[in-house]
Amino acid sequence: MKLIHAYINTINRNCLGNSKMYRGLEFWQNLLFARILAILLPLSLISLIPGIILSIKVGNHYIGYVDEFVFFGFIFIAFKKNMNINIRKIIFVSLFYLISTVLLYYLGSFGPGLLLILGISVIIIIIFPAHYAYTTVVINLVICLIFGLLIYLKLTPGIGIIGYNLASWIAISSNLIMLCALLAALLPTILSGLQKTIQEQESLKLELRVEKRNLLNALEGIKNKNHELEQFAYMASHDLQEPLRMVTSFLGMIESSYATKLDEKGLQYIHYASDGATRMKKIIEDLLEYSVAGNKELNLQDIDLNQLMIDFVKTNRTLIEEKNSQLNWQNLPVIKADPTFMLQLFQNLIGNALKYQSNDAKPVVTVSARELKNYWEISVADNGIGIEKEYFERIFAVFQRLHDKRTYKGTGIGLAICKKIVELHKGKIWVESTPGQGSNFKFTIIK
Ligand code: ADP
Repeated sequence: MKLIHAYINTINRNCLGNSKMYRGLEFWQNLLFARILAILLPLSLISLIPGIILSIKVGNHYIGYVDEFVFFGFIFIAFKKNMNINIRKIIFVSLFYLISTVLLYYLGSFGPGLLLILGISVIIIIIFPAHYAYTTVVINLVICLIFGLLIYLKLTPGIGIIGYNLASWIAISSNLIMLCALLAALLPTILSGLQKTIQEQESLKLELRVEKRNLLNALEGIKNKNHELEQFAYMASHDLQEPLRMVTSFLGMIESSYATKLDEKGLQYIHYASDGATRMKKIIEDLLEYSVAGNKELNLQDIDLNQLMIDFVKTNRTLIEEKNSQLNWQNLPVIKADPTFMLQLFQNLIGNALKYQSNDAKPVVTVSARELKNYWEISVADNGIGIEKEYFERIFAVFQRLHDKRTYKGTGIGLAICKKIVELHKGKIWVESTPGQGSNFKFTIIK
């Protein structure tokens, strides 16, 4: 098997040369030629031996000599290095015509000469460019005319005389020419179709490459714009904090110093204003958190999620007890992540799980983990109000809220921060939920 591979590879290497790189029609024609050579060599041995025996039997050694010459000629063009492929093809075709005409001359139309001529015509049509297709018809016509003349002049040798009769020769050779012309007209149609398909494929590939480059450029542009926006959000929220602090503190001063001088309405307005300022403060803080999440370097450490839950309960004791909530977890893994970000992530997810509950409900939140091949899948499940399927994606975008601020307080930034944190850790976050029964927020984290 190895030997056969080496044999085929050597012929391919010799014949294909540089055209290996360009996979157009020319490449396939050259490959076909190499394959014809590789198959023909062992096959021509089969016809060489009977040819030699026949030539001895009929006492005509020329047939044997030409057979051997052609066979060694094939070996030469298959294994000669550094020879132009077209010269190889021309020698190949010439050798084929040589053996065909010799057989035709000595054995007449009873021998394999005419068959070989038909065979080589097909090969010429498929291994040379399409505009050479009719050359073979012309060559065959010339050969047939010469032989017709030889028969007419009775110059054909004795041994093949039974095969030569002018009328039958004209009938046979005209059919041969007709068949060759038919092939020369039809085969190039298939080849040019093939050529068109290959060209179309090549130009499609090129277009795809250009499109890909454009897309990558656009992506790069979006990344830069995104970064700029994050910077802007950071600067804006950072700079807004100071004037807001002033507004809040002066509102407080008005409330404490002028409370007695203001009527009911005035006090109510002050209350609305300071409530608005408090909400604005929260939005600014969340926005700041959101923009920081996109700019900070990850500080990866081993984090024991069981410990993280204990810390969470400690810092949120009032909130948990206020709502008479129950937090469950068991055998959580140690993951590699940024501790600040993880705390923020759990704070947001568990905070939401405790928040989005119906009035009289006792929140039950369960944190669990599932081990996958390359990831941990962490889940934060609650028994809250749940989310409609159509909002599963939307809630992870900035400022997307499903309730007004009177029903549930919030800024609509928490889950956007969660998404950013998880994606920074090269994971994914999604939600599964049934309205009225609860939500299950899941995210993956690389092991
Ligand atoms: P916020 O809670 O500040 O409004 P988030 O980005 O954290 O903002 O959440 C976006 C929206 O997703 C919320 O307004 C809420 O409607 C919905 N949501 C988030 N978590 C839950 C949950 N556990 N159960 C039901 N709805 C939720």
